[in-house]
Amino acid sequence: YDALKAVDPEIAQVVDDELTRLRGGLQLIASENLTSPAVLAALGSTLSNKYAEGYPGRRYYGGCEVVDQAELIGVERAKKLFGAEHANLQPHSGANANLAVYAAFCQPGDKVLAMSLPHGGHLTHGAKVSFSGKWFEPVPYTVREDDGLIDYDQVRDLALEHRPKMIVAGATAYPRLIDFEKFRAIADEVGAILWVDAAHFIGLVAGQAIPSPVPHADVVTFTTHKVLRGPRGGMLVSRAEHAKALDKAVFPFLQGGPLMHAVAAKATALAEAATPDYQAYARQVIANAQALTSALETQGMRAISGGTDTHLALLDLQPLGVTGKEAEARSGLAGITLNKNAIPYDPQPPMTASGIRVGSPSITTQGMTEAEMGDVARLIATAVTADESTDVGQKTLGEVREEVGTLVSRFPAYAR
Ligand code: PLP
Repeated sequence: YDALKAVDPEIAQVVDDELTRLRGGLQLIASENLTSPAVLAALGSTLSNKYAEGYPGRRYYGGCEVVDQAELIGVERAKKLFGAEHANLQPHSGANANLAVYAAFCQPGDKVLAMSLPHGGHLTHGAKVSFSGKWFEPVPYTVREDDGLIDYDQVRDLALEHRPKMIVAGATAYPRLIDFEKFRAIADEVGAILWVDAAHFIGLVAGQAIPSPVPHADVVTFTTHKVLRGPRGGMLVSRAEHAKALDKAVFPFLQGGPLMHAVAAKATALAEAATPDYQAYARQVIANAQALTSALETQGMRAISGGTDTHLALLDLQPLGVTGKEAEARSGLAGITLNKNAIPYDPQPPMTASGIRVGSPSITTQGMTEAEMGDVARLIATAVTADESTDVGQKTLGEVREEVGTLVSRFPAYAR
């Protein structure tokens, strides 16, 4: 950091300001976390310099014998942690890992059965604005309107009707556990590949806090920067029979040289995730999310699916007469970072949305427990119902901001 400050004070200031922002507010984005200083050290290392196209022992560049070690160690750690036959740490992002799965198993035009975007699926699960919806034929399944849960009968009916090449389980805004055995049975019935996109919850699997999809899926992709608390990036684990196709899809089909500093940082995060401390963290993430969700329900919000089994909750704000867009903006003014989110069967357009998504990974890393969740919920509810266009609303948001500052000062992010 001192070198950065000396050479580029402008960017050093940005880095400083971001740390101040992180420390000064409540970070409730469900897909974010505060990675460890050890992971940051690996990321900011000279491993960033090395070209290493290919895989350990089979590179297209010389001088890879050292970085090979980082990848070999990381792959072994991933296989052990997830009980997987194969692992690839090279995908630059979650979306890249997902693209590799399409490349390995599908041809353009193939049908892929996945959760619809407005019901919690990811862009890469068949949205028209993504390669997945443009180059493949998505068959979307939905959650039920009455209880917000995946309708496995509908998934099976659609699978039997469309005979998709691939079935996707996993989402970006689904608060409940997914029944991977049911998905496996449906995939087997129609001869489809079962791909689990575990980006959101893989950290909870790593911490042994929820059941693993690995024994059931052909391939499991994920990001490494959410609950798992690693560097920003992607990864996949799979059955051995798919190893070659997936590796070839990542490189050379999709990517060039891997980011070896990121590969090393992923390895470090995997080591951290294999510890009892991390397992306790994963359990606390869920306990906090559950306590926060019920406290938000007490504040008048409606939890989609009636609660959560994971690190995130989806809250319908219609009972409060507030849109997701208003809630996101007002929370931001009060030092609370969260995102607006469409709820299933949302009457509002996606850019307005009727809900918010909140997650507990960051505040749990900071050391908060159930004891703080009542206050966090009250602060959120007070902020989202404060109309910033009025003096009263401005005053309220200022007061919330102050209280947020006091609360987070007891749980400093990256305490020096
Ligand atoms: N898959 C799911 C389920 C996600 O939630 C996300 C990101 O939030 C991704 C894939 C994409 O990850 P990335 O943003 O690293 O491309």
